Amino acid sequence: MFRRTLLPTLALLLSVAPAAAQVTAIRAGRLVDPEAGTVASDQIILVEDGMITAVGPDVAVPAGAEVVDLSDATVLPGLIDAHVHLCLGVRLDRDGGNYYYTSLMDPSSARAVDGVVNARAVLEAGFTTVRDIGNDGNYACMAVRDAIAAKRIVGPTMINAGRIIAPFGGQFHLQPDKPELGEPEYFYADTRDEMVRAIRQNVHFGAQVIKIVVDDQDYVYSIDDIRFMKEEAARAGRSLAAHAWTARGAHNAAAAGVTSIEHLWAIEDEDLELAKRNGVVAVFTPFPAVEAAVVGGEDEHDQQIDRIRAALRVGIPIAFGSDAVSEIPGHTRGTLALARIDMFTEAGMTPAHLLRAMTAEAARLLGVDDARGAIRPGLAADIIATPGDPLGDAQALKSVTFVMKDGVVVRRPGR
Ligand SMILES: [Zn+2]
Repeated sequence: MFRRTLLPTLALLLSVAPAAAQVTAIRAGRLVDPEAGTVASDQIILVEDGMITAVGPDVAVPAGAEVVDLSDATVLPGLIDAHVHLCLGVRLDRDGGNYYYTSLMDPSSARAVDGVVNARAVLEAGFTTVRDIGNDGNYACMAVRDAIAAKRIVGPTMINAGRIIAPFGGQFHLQPDKPELGEPEYFYADTRDEMVRAIRQNVHFGAQVIKIVVDDQDYVYSIDDIRFMKEEAARAGRSLAAHAWTARGAHNAAAAGVTSIEHLWAIEDEDLELAKRNGVVAVFTPFPAVEAAVVGGEDEHDQQIDRIRAALRVGIPIAFGSDAVSEIPGHTRGTLALARIDMFTEAGMTPAHLLRAMTAEAARLLGVDDARGAIRPGLAADIIATPGDPLGDAQALKSVTFVMKDGVVVRRPGR
């Protein structure tokens, strides 16, 4: 009924509103191609209807175009964070840094509000696409994603996992009287039937990627379990991301050939090799001191640096992940994510490699590389700028002064 009455109205609007779409012309003093690791000077980028239509030194600026002058800046594609939890906010004063308590204290409604706030914050910091990898408040982040897509609120493009699938108990250390307290944060799936049901429910509620927790307890998912879920997810056209904190969990995930392994803090060198052979992408999520002070992990600093170094030696593809979850005065979720740059730099990742991990490599992992992650005609106009030189010093990515998302300017220099 609604659709029938709406259609004639739309037809009328289309017939009386043929005005040419507004064109935006960006003058880029320096334009970075992260995939190639190169910079071009004095480029012009044309944007129309949210899309990049032309890029080059001699592109003519159409009459009436809005000109954005970034001739003093370095322009680059919007950043991508492959591991976020926008609908989770751990508060040291209330939760003791433990997200189990956060999940008990915050209803899904509050989690959705967290998502709205954090979505804007990460976008303003320069992240135009994120993969929201579970702990999402019983699908609260699906509503955030959909509101962003409908342009009702401001935020990055979101690729969502929904509920995390895990062995009984999930990541929480429960007690026998209340084993249900891990749900709905987790989907307990121990039998094959439960795994199928969990994947089907997630897909039904909008999951674009399936996230499993392999370990975090003694009785971990086996290689066969993980392979089974990988194939079931693939049947639904979804990739499989696997949380692995232990050596055994990382080994099983690497052997099963998941799409990405998250964290990898105890992975053996030979399993990094195995993961590379099996086409796995490594999503390290190093915790900088500012956030480790809230959620713990200060004692894991050296181990985290060591494993990133090992991955750089092995040459496995790396996509940037933050895993930022904390509410810290003076920080936003965006500035916390950018604080990870220090850890990757300390581990010896070059600025060019890190930028690739934050753009092209992450776009491929998220399956959005045909639409985002680079600046070229035919892609969405997700464009950022910094006064610095991100190929010379990754710290420049912490001073993003311009953000355009799908052709809409979200942040301008001076604001
Ligand atoms: Zn996480």
